[in-house]
Order: sequence, then C-alpha cells, then structure tokens
Amino acid sequence: MITKSRRQNYDYDAVVIGSGIGGLVTAAYMAKSGVRVLVCEQHSQPGGYFTSFKRKRYTFDGGIQACENFGMLLPLLEQLGIRDRIELHRSVFAYATPDLFLPLHTAEDISRWYSKLSDVYPAESQGISCIAEKAFEFSSVMEAFNAFPNPLFTPLSRVLNALPGWIIKNWKSFKYAPDLMRLMNIPMEDFYRQHLQDPDLLKFLGQLGYSGTPAAFILGIIAFVLDYYYPIGGIQAISDVLAESIQERGGTIRYKTLVEEIIIEDNRACGIRLKNGERISAPFVVSNSDARRTFLDMLPPASVPADYRQRLQQAEVCESAFNVYLGVDMPTEDLPFQGCHHVHYFPDYQGVDYKLDIDDPTCYSRAGLEICVPTITDPALAPEGKTSMVITCVATADYCKEWGTKNGKRTPEYKKLKQTVARQIIASAEELIPDLSRRIEYMDASTPFTMERYTLNNRGSSAGWSYHPQKGFNAGAGGMAGFLTPVKNLYAVGHWTASPGGAPSGFVSGKIVSEIIRRRI
Ligand SMILES: Cc1cc2nc3c(=O)[nH]c(=O)nc-3n(C[C@H](O)[C@H](O)[C@H](O)COP(=O)(O)OP(=O)(O)OC[C@H]3O[C@@H](n4cnc5c(N)ncnc54)[C@H](O)[C@@H]3O)c2cc1C
Repeated sequence: MITKSRRQNYDYDAVVIGSGIGGLVTAAYMAKSGVRVLVCEQHSQPGGYFTSFKRKRYTFDGGIQACENFGMLLPLLEQLGIRDRIELHRSVFAYATPDLFLPLHTAEDISRWYSKLSDVYPAESQGISCIAEKAFEFSSVMEAFNAFPNPLFTPLSRVLNALPGWIIKNWKSFKYAPDLMRLMNIPMEDFYRQHLQDPDLLKFLGQLGYSGTPAAFILGIIAFVLDYYYPIGGIQAISDVLAESIQERGGTIRYKTLVEEIIIEDNRACGIRLKNGERISAPFVVSNSDARRTFLDMLPPASVPADYRQRLQQAEVCESAFNVYLGVDMPTEDLPFQGCHHVHYFPDYQGVDYKLDIDDPTCYSRAGLEICVPTITDPALAPEGKTSMVITCVATADYCKEWGTKNGKRTPEYKKLKQTVARQIIASAEELIPDLSRRIEYMDASTPFTMERYTLNNRGSSAGWSYHPQKGFNAGAGGMAGFLTPVKNLYAVGHWTASPGGAPSGFVSGKIVSEIIRRRI
C-alpha cells in the first residue's frame, strides 16, 4: 500500500507507457476507480494497432481489421460504462478460392471447407476428415467458453446465476476440453503432419494462422470468427471511446510523447523520463510498449535479471503484416462478397510458406490474402458509391533481405519492392474482384517496417511473441502471467504479456493490472 502522504509526493499514481488497447484498457479502469493516471503515447492518436486513418475521404484500418469479442470486448465496454457510445456490428468472414466462395455463418460451414479440400486432395481425404472432426469438436468447446460470462468482466452474482444453465447447455462439449488443452501445446504444423503427407496441402493449411499457432487454437478458430465485431466509424472508434473515458474521469493522455527511460530508485520503478528530458514520478509504472524495448532499452541493465534478459533476446516474435490500402471507385454492393466484411482469398491450393519463401520476390502473387471491406459495415467510410478496402497478408521483416532497407533506412529498392508486392496482391485480388485495378483511385501500402514505426513493436510484430508454444517468451506454465515483471512496481500490459497474444491479451492484462494497482494504492 502507498500511504496518502507518500502518494502526494508523486506527480501521478500510475504512468502507462503506450496507448495500445492494453494501455487504454488499463488506464480506463484505473481512471474509473479514481487512480490519477497519465498515459504517454509517442504517436499522435490513441490505439496502437487499434487504429484507423483517412486519406482522400477514404478511411482505412491500419492494424486489426475487426475484433473478436471472446467474452471480453463487449462486457468490458459495458463494465466501463461506455458500451452505449459505440455501435458494434457482427463482422462476417468468408473463405474463397478461384472455384469456391464460402461465407462462414455457422460452425457447420467449416465442414464444407474441409470437404472442398478433400475434393482437391483425394489421397488425403482420411486425414482431412480427422482434422475436420477435431475442428468441429473444438469449435463447440470454444463457443461454450465464449458464451460463459467472463468472471473478470462480469459481476460475480451474474456469473453464478448463469452457471447452471451454461453447464446444462454445454456439458456435451466438456469431454473435448482435455484434448483441446493438450493441443494448445502442439504447433498446428506438427498436428497437420500427423494426419497429412502432401507438402502442398501442408503449405496451404499453414497459411491459415501465424507459424506455430497452437493446433487447438487454429482448429477452434470458427468460434472467434462467429464472434467478431466492427465498430461504426472504423476500428479507431474503440480506441477513441476508451481515450475519451480516461480523460473524462480525470486521467491525462499526452500524445507525441516518447518515453525513453523507466526510472528506478531503491530497486523499484518510480517514474519515467521522456525524450525531451522531462521526468515524471509515479509509484507504479505500466509498460504497454514492446517487451524488448521495455526491458532491454528503457531500464538500467542491472535492474533486469540476466536470465530474463537472455530469454528476451532468444525468444522469437510473431509475424508482421503487409497491407495494401485501396480507395476504389466501385459501389460496395457491386463486390461479389455477399455481405462478408473479411474474405480470405487463396489464389491456389498450394500457397506459400513465409519462412521458406523468404527470398522469393514473386511469392505474394500466390499468397493467401485477407480482403477487408469496411464499407460493407459502414458505408460512410468512403465517399458515396465508393469502397474502401484493406488487403492484408502475413509478412516478416526479413523478407527479401529486410525489404531492401539498409541499416534500417528506406532505400529506392525498398520503395520498389513495396510497389511490386502491392501490385502482385492487387492482381491476385482482381481474380475475385473483376476490374479492381482500373477502379483504384487511391493506393498505399505498409510493410513490417511501417508497423514498427507507428507502434514501436519489434520487427513490426503484429501480435507480440511467436504463437509457437515453445518459441515465444511466455511459453509453458505461467505463460499467461507476463503482466508481472521482475522489476518491482513495474507491470506490463498488451500482447507481449501472453501467448498467443493479440487483442484478448490486452483486455485481460489491462484489467488485471489496473485491479492490482488499485488495490495497492
Ligand atoms: C493486420 C493485423 C490484423 C490483426 N488482427 C487481429 C485479430 O483479428 N484479432 C486479434 O486479437 N488481434 C489481431 N491483431 C493483433 C492486435 O491488433 C494486437 O495484438 C493488439 O492490438 C496489440 O495491443 P497492445 O496493447 O499490445 O498495443 P500496441 O497496439 O502494440 O500499441 C502499443 C502502443 O504503445 C506506444 N508506445 C510504445 N512504446 C512507447 C514509448 N516508449 N513511448 C510512448 N509510446 C509508446 C505505441 O506507439 C503504440 O501506440 C492484428 C494485428 C494486425 C497488424
């Protein structure tokens, strides 16, 4: 506990470094409970990867393209008292290939996907059936999990009231839970290899998630897809409403404010130093920044145990993304998308392996794409009768010799490669959207280095550490408790605190850390 008189010696009760979703959730809960909080954000707007930007009257989402509820997003907004300020719509997915367009409306739709793969790879049909069966089982467990009121974000009385009905409705799915837990430790690639041999099919399936994603996670993915939401106004609307609530409740957010150092006194964190030299004191510091930057750059080396530093250096980070942003002079209704906001389009049934095809400058003409059309949910995100579109692909920072950069600097080769990859992606998407390239009014693209520049995530990692159960930092027991750090009074929030990362790790860590600090003040 910090005594009242000691509390007054500090500028704030807590400082949060970064306003990604994890930082915003932490600060919003703290401000709600009367904690004097300051958020420092190096960018000019809140959100990190929960971000949108406008160019020539088209709005684009720069990172996450819609967000799974996963029993957290909606209750969290409700608990913070801001649910009515944001209009969220279910955001529908589809899988598409040159000879299939499959909207995903129910868990059963996924079996049509596997039966198509059996038609294409008849010699593998037995293995594919086993995988399909597991996918069906796991999606029922995940759906049950999603349907249960999350005790972190729901009053206990409501949780207890819901429990008997939930057990009666879902008990049949519980038998699959032990197997699901087991396959949380097996990378999807290893699981697929237990059932399939064809290298092309293995490569194709490997595109459906980040490398090393736990098999259970990828098999149950339909449960996320069916619980996916997009806000009117673009993804930025979620960040803006959280930022607003922080400020209304007495919290402070400073933009264009880079934190360079976490100050340690008497072996505990007690404030920060900004790039302009300003020092700000607080008994608690929360980092929503990149994990390596936090522990290897912002802290004095002696304050971080050597083995922790070594593990940080050795762990692998998750892949990044290459995005193409298109303003298209075409009414959204004319797209052959059947109301699907996200279409995973696979130009062939072989695909690419982002690790093996790392030096292949043509690989994006064959890569799986996620074509996202925000104007399907909110037509106001483009001029009337036009469409805004983001096509996103998995990418790594080391593609084609670091995208042609030299010592981290952009070069003419970098710009050329960015254009080449964007053109390959547009040509591929045009197989699904006839006339696309002729109707483009605005085009821009972002590489993993763009992602890094705007969010400071190492190598442009889109979701924190590697999803591989053994290669990330938070692997094994205690892997979900990355919000606790070896430095006293320093906590971490966001996607570097759990594996797999992504938005849910920001929700959970933000809520827990805000609660720990509230109790300690
Ligand atoms: C294309 C794409 C699609 C995605 N799709 C999904 C999805 O469908 N589902 C899902 O769950 N996740 C998805 N993700 C991942 C998800 O968006 C991120 O994991 C999540 O938003 C990260 O949140 P965070 O709290 O860790 O903060 P980040 O978004 O990493 O933000 C960190 C913030 O801190 C600021 N900052 C860092 N260091 C400093 C400093 N020293 N001083 C001041 N400010 C600092 C940065 O500027 C940034 O604003 C996707 C990501 C991408 C890129």
